[in-house]
Amino acid sequence: MTGIPLLETRNVGLAYATDRGPIRAVDDVTIQVAAGECVAICGRSGSGKSTLLSLLGGLARPTSGTVLYAGRPWTELRATEIQAARAGGIGLLWQESVLLPGLTALDNVVLPQLVAGHPREAACARAEAWLTRVGMRERWDAHPAELSGGQQRRVALARALATEPRLILADEPTNDLDALAEAEIVRLLAEIREAGTTAIVVVTHDPAVAAIADRRLWMERGRITDGSIEAVPRPAPPIGPPASSSSATVPLQAFEPAAPELVPQAPAVATAPWRRTLVPFALGLGVAAAAIAGIDRLVARRQERVVETIREQRRLAEEMALQDLRADIDDIAPDGPDGFTATLFLENFRPERPLHVLGPATGVAVQRDGRWESLTTGASQAARDIRRVGADRLLIPVSFALPAGPYDELLRGYIHVRISASLVVGDRDDGTGDLFERSDAYYVYLRDPRLTEDAIRAANGWGAKAAVPLWIPMPAH
Ligand code: ADP
Ligand code: MG
Repeated sequence: MTGIPLLETRNVGLAYATDRGPIRAVDDVTIQVAAGECVAICGRSGSGKSTLLSLLGGLARPTSGTVLYAGRPWTELRATEIQAARAGGIGLLWQESVLLPGLTALDNVVLPQLVAGHPREAACARAEAWLTRVGMRERWDAHPAELSGGQQRRVALARALATEPRLILADEPTNDLDALAEAEIVRLLAEIREAGTTAIVVVTHDPAVAAIADRRLWMERGRITDGSIEAVPRPAPPIGPPASSSSATVPLQAFEPAAPELVPQAPAVATAPWRRTLVPFALGLGVAAAAIAGIDRLVARRQERVVETIREQRRLAEEMALQDLRADIDDIAPDGPDGFTATLFLENFRPERPLHVLGPATGVAVQRDGRWESLTTGASQAARDIRRVGADRLLIPVSFALPAGPYDELLRGYIHVRISASLVVGDRDDGTGDLFERSDAYYVYLRDPRLTEDAIRAANGWGAKAAVPLWIPMPAH
């Protein structure tokens, strides 16, 4: 190994304090990973693999020993250096989806690049190229909830790779995937390894994944077990998907409708007054994305004591995003024969504490046959603006048209409608500080515009003078 290893641990350990005494999840581990190298960490569940991965990525703090990234201990890096390393240098691929639910697949891939300082046009072009490479270009406008586990994993891989990181940390990337999706991920990882510019540390108990690695380390009870380090000479043995599916992209399933033209609307579309603050906000947003995705899941869950202060700060920010910011439906009014405009409002309960929002991105769905069917809504500029929320209500109109019925009617003559809004909330307009993504859904019964008030009264057995409101708010469910 020449030069400084990209990653190095020196007698690193992490002991979790529990009621029954400390659990040494990682115990006295000394390893090195060279630039461009692919290392698989294998072992039974509970052997400490995920904890070691968090230590390698600087997401968890060792209780003994040291972890060095590019020759410098994580603990000695300044916050800005850590953010820079995470934003541009390290791609995380965790088992659970780490995609931001309120953003499209494309925007999820664009965001970390903005964080890494790439200009928006280049970021969008690269995001498109990476989505193509992982076979997800056709679904560029889908939100994570609309994608299967394997598809989400592929978008997450595109996101991890779009910044051309020096290091990918992957935790059981093929877990819970079907054979084809697994083969796709393995093929992509093998390609990255072949290219040789990105080091990969992959935790796995999938032999197909372990097979592509240059070296395999075995973990047992927090330790790398002796004599188990095997070297696999390059080139790697032929790997990858079954021959039939070895095309560069996965064919789309026939039932998926053709994708609309790819129109990047990443969060950085500047509107005049925000042009100055947008890039830093996007920066903060991406850092928050990393924070929400990685730090929250791993550190908060596993390192409760160590990050108590950070959590306290985040708790305050969360309180602000969830409690101080009130959001609800102000009114719904008819708008054309089958159309409506719902007006949402945002209000800051504690106006003395400033509050800024990006969004909301809104959606409307109606219930049919027990399922929610999304409606086309009028383009909402709000989704791309950053605005300060003060004591005065900020109103956000969402217009939509009802297609022909039938609908599910829990109350005769009323259509079950869901209006959803997701936004990113922060306390500063420059995007520094903590940011939270908040998603709300409002459920209403909306009067069917094709029925008269009398018909609705009759259908429900209401008296002749009973009020027939245009809409009835329902409790969240
Ligand atoms: P693996 O990824 O190999 O399944 P982990 O790194 O998740 O293993 O866990 C290693 C050990 O540490 C296990 O015994 C697990 O129960 C324990 N552990 C993990 N997280 C915590 C925690 N937050 N508190 C206490 N023990 C933990
Ligand atoms: Mg694990």
